[in-house]
Amino acid sequence: MEVGMSTQNILHMNSGVGDKSYAHNSFFQKKAIIKAKPILEESMTRLYYNILPKCLKVADLGCSSGPNTLEVISNIINIVDTTSSNLNLSLPDFQFYLNDLFESDFNTVFKSLPQFYKTLEGKKGNKIGPCFINATPGTFYKRLFPTSSMHFFHCSYSLHWLSQAPEEFIDADGGEALERDGIYLRSTSPRAMQKAYLRQFQRDLKAFLKSRSEELVPGGEMVLTFIGRQNNTSEIRATWDLLGFALNDMLSENLIEKETLKSFNIPNYDPSMEEVKEIIEEEGSFILHRVETIWMGWHGNMMNNEEGANGNKLDENMTGEFIAKYIRAVTEPLLKAHFGQRIMDELFLRFKDKVAQLLRDIQILEFPNFIVSLIKNA
Ligand code: SAH
Repeated sequence: MEVGMSTQNILHMNSGVGDKSYAHNSFFQKKAIIKAKPILEESMTRLYYNILPKCLKVADLGCSSGPNTLEVISNIINIVDTTSSNLNLSLPDFQFYLNDLFESDFNTVFKSLPQFYKTLEGKKGNKIGPCFINATPGTFYKRLFPTSSMHFFHCSYSLHWLSQAPEEFIDADGGEALERDGIYLRSTSPRAMQKAYLRQFQRDLKAFLKSRSEELVPGGEMVLTFIGRQNNTSEIRATWDLLGFALNDMLSENLIEKETLKSFNIPNYDPSMEEVKEIIEEEGSFILHRVETIWMGWHGNMMNNEEGANGNKLDENMTGEFIAKYIRAVTEPLLKAHFGQRIMDELFLRFKDKVAQLLRDIQILEFPNFIVSLIKNA
């Protein structure tokens, strides 16, 4: 998407439940949810125990559409169920709010609700009280809920999406317009561009924290999981590099135009933990309670176990295909809006080949993910 353009009306994951949908290609992100579960448990148990609300109000921010959306809700109900049993209390009412951008496929989630409620009743019987699931479309970089009305926010695999690709590609020192060398940041990108992305991330995360702190009750908590980077290198940037290389090849074959490619940027940032800590401290509304780093292999979504995620023995073409599918589920709406539907099949075929080649060369591709739990400052 073009620099400075808001993601608000463009960004969403591939809709529906078909072969190319996010619902069908989000096992990778599910792994992050599974890994974050112990932190979610700790935070939710503490919150519930401290507040003991009659109606527990929780929002999942950037919920998308697919099995992960309701998985998070189930996990939270189970955690509260266990805590209530331990305390010999009856379960509270639940009110869940599913948030995502306006173009997200909420309808597919709504259609899966009758089955979800049925399964819940089947599992919990009449022990479970009223459970209301609402939708809250809008950007989480602005206010979404009334003041002091929420207990808990969960946000998985969404915060690395910026509200826009950074606008200020002007070097503060030299005042020169930047020549971009790809569709995203690289270690070789000009420093001013690195700074512009960081500044956008700082602005966005601060707006996120401020809005959430206003919406949370005293003692309210959040658990956030997002892609990060370590030691100034980041394998996630390799994804965007490969996509950029595929687009460049298509440019050299006149399948896309130079100007179209030059104006495209991925509105995504992979912060370091130091950057995140600094923003949280500066913004000041939250105490950073716990931080974990988990490493995920690129091909995590086709593996069922830890070993598989790291010690890959599968054919690189198959792995490339899997990776291309989930990257397509996440990026296609953005790419389509800029380059047109016409080139999508070709682009992802080329991307798949490049991933397979990189896997043959490097074999292990991993990137860090941060899970943080935050408590609203008293
Ligand atoms: N939480 C889900 C989905 C992750 S995909 C899971 O773990 O599987 C990331 C989601 O964040 C996308 O659906 C995207 O539309 C949403 N998103 C990105 N920026 C957002 C914003 N500013 N406000 C709300 N949702 C946003």
